[in-house]
Amino acid sequence: MKRCIFALFFPVLGLLVLPARGHDPHEHGVARLDVALEGRRLSLELDSPLANFLSFEHAPRTDTQRNEVRAMAEKLRELETLFVPPKAALCRLESVELEFDNLPEDLLAAAAASAPKRSVKTDDIKENAEGHGELEGEFIFVCDKPEAVTQIEIRLFKAFPALREIAVQIALPGRQRAAELTPESSTLKW
Ligand SMILES: [Zn+2]
Repeated sequence: MKRCIFALFFPVLGLLVLPARGHDPHEHGVARLDVALEGRRLSLELDSPLANFLSFEHAPRTDTQRNEVRAMAEKLRELETLFVPPKAALCRLESVELEFDNLPEDLLAAAAASAPKRSVKTDDIKENAEGHGELEGEFIFVCDKPEAVTQIEIRLFKAFPALREIAVQIALPGRQRAAELTPESSTLKW
């Protein structure tokens, strides 16, 4: 009987558990953000479909599309205005890594220009059959008063209106939690 119940439940559990592992499905409008505070280091890792930042995800084919990529890179230039920890925490952006699928590097030069250490690269042009592409970003702040980092204002929604939701995982010393941000509720608090 026990074995029978196990056999009944196991496939269901497998279905429920598997999608949460590894890379989440690519869903336009939704991004994932992992936030971790460790000592003075505050790191944010963003994983998002390009469609949240551009009206297309393939390599740009027209001047209009190339200009759109340049304009996006320009909006990503001052990252401290998009991720805002409390002033009292005295945080400064130390390094930025941005990796874009499908977009030529020369159009992305403006992105993240304000960080002392930055790397903006493009993944091999690897348009899949559906033509989807992603942006992966890592942003590291160093904070002189990390105990004052009790919230982070995420201003990506205003800059990029196609973004509707950010699923956040927060790792703090000794605890973890999840949160969901939307344009109406865009400050991460703990
Ligand atoms: Zn897509």
